[in-house]
Amino acid sequence: MSLCGSVSAVRLNSQSNTIRMGSVLAFRGGESMGHALRIPFKKRSSKGACPLQVVCIDYPRPELENTVNFLEAASLSASFRAAPRPTKPLKVIIAGAGLAGLSTAKYLADAGHKPLLLEARDVLGGKVAAWKDDDGDWYETGLHIFFGAYPNVQNLFGELGINDRLQWKEHSMIFAMPNKPGEFSRFDFPEVLPAPLNGIWAILKNNEMLTWPEKVKFAIGLLPAMLGGQPYVEAQDGLTVKEWMRKQGIPDRVTDNVFIAMSKALNFINPDELSMQCILIALNRFLQEKNGSKMAFLDGNPPERLCMPIVNHIESLGGEVWLNSRIKKIELNDDGTVKSFLLTNGNTIEGDAYVMAAPVDILKLLLPEDWREISYFKKLEKLVGVPVINVHIWFDRKLKNTYNHLLFSRSSYFVYQPFPLFANLQLLWLLSA
Ligand SMILES: Cc1cc2nc3c(=O)[nH]c(=O)nc-3n(C[C@H](O)[C@H](O)[C@H](O)COP(=O)(O)OP(=O)(O)OC[C@H]3O[C@@H](n4cnc5c(N)ncnc54)[C@H](O)[C@@H]3O)c2cc1C
Repeated sequence: MSLCGSVSAVRLNSQSNTIRMGSVLAFRGGESMGHALRIPFKKRSSKGACPLQVVCIDYPRPELENTVNFLEAASLSASFRAAPRPTKPLKVIIAGAGLAGLSTAKYLADAGHKPLLLEARDVLGGKVAAWKDDDGDWYETGLHIFFGAYPNVQNLFGELGINDRLQWKEHSMIFAMPNKPGEFSRFDFPEVLPAPLNGIWAILKNNEMLTWPEKVKFAIGLLPAMLGGQPYVEAQDGLTVKEWMRKQGIPDRVTDNVFIAMSKALNFINPDELSMQCILIALNRFLQEKNGSKMAFLDGNPPERLCMPIVNHIESLGGEVWLNSRIKKIELNDDGTVKSFLLTNGNTIEGDAYVMAAPVDILKLLLPEDWREISYFKKLEKLVGVPVINVHIWFDRKLKNTYNHLLFSRSSYFVYQPFPLFANLQLLWLLSA
């Protein structure tokens, strides 16, 4: 699927930022399953006084603002706004309008600089991009969960005044039961307990996925991670998830039952390939913060609901965002520093500083010959992209007998997510392994 624009660079607000695609995988006339969704609505009165109103019941925003991580993120970002205005604002050229490039531009603008964000495609968001099909349905690059344990992202939503766009789900992790199709096993985090007791309670209360001896071995195995802090976590980078679990005496069944899904969800690869450091970073946050593992979904498509508010903010401070502006070459000065970005449309863009916020595969392709032997860039060789395929399935009626939540699959291939409340579609997150 190529979505690269071919028209010349335009300012974002002067063109539509969505494209229409032809056919999508869609099934019509499927059977509906089970009971009705809880969507109360007021019926139009016989006098016609009250228009039809749909109210979606959802879980309220949890208390996130009092965690150390959130406070640190909030204070760091506030420091950009509070810093003395630069006497000569820098023109900073940023490649890639995914969330990394957009937030870089946002915070540079907050600090008084003039970012110019260049996006190759005709849509904002990168891996959170979305497109509207001919029926007006949105389809997305993938499912996007916003965890409570994301201090910077949560702080960003607050700064943009769009906290209400996150729809919080009940505090549970729900796993499919491979041998019992249609049944799910839950880890429920009780509201009344602080972290890490709420997580420990959730694990102890689940009897379908883990036996008691497995729970005990799992808990003992996790102790060094809980007590060792960040230095311990970083030291585990040399071990895969599977190796680490075995070293801690945690049975393979725990790895298969819980960590295939977690490894897939975090990095799209299996426990025998993924560094344990990745899992421990997430687990530690989840165990330290009461609402760290609580999940929220955005209330609509990310380009409009999340990226555009960031663009509006950047532009209100004098920054710019250009779509259809693909960088073809990083041009260097004689001393090896960046001279300019050459775009595929022939334009040359010069700035005072340059930021690459494009995927690592792209950076590897664009890396100037002179930089390839620099040890920092040499490390890129080891980073390999993981192909991911998403399949969206549209049904012609509300789904029933299912959860409005992330459903972890325990197979090696699928993560599955129904969105019955706000989109009447079912999305199957197919991961190529
Ligand atoms: C299917 C899927 C589901 C995910 N689900 C979650 C989730 O639930 N929760 C979560 O936290 N994370 C999730 N992630 C990860 C998350 O989406 C990414 O980590 C994040 O969006 C990456 O943002 P980025 O800005 O670093 O990169 P990208 O989003 O990749 O942005 C890079 C941008 O650079 C642009 N670009 C590329 N080449 C050029 C060029 N030559 N010139 C100019 N621009 C260029 C691209 O078009 C793109 O817009 C998921 C990822 C995928 C793929």
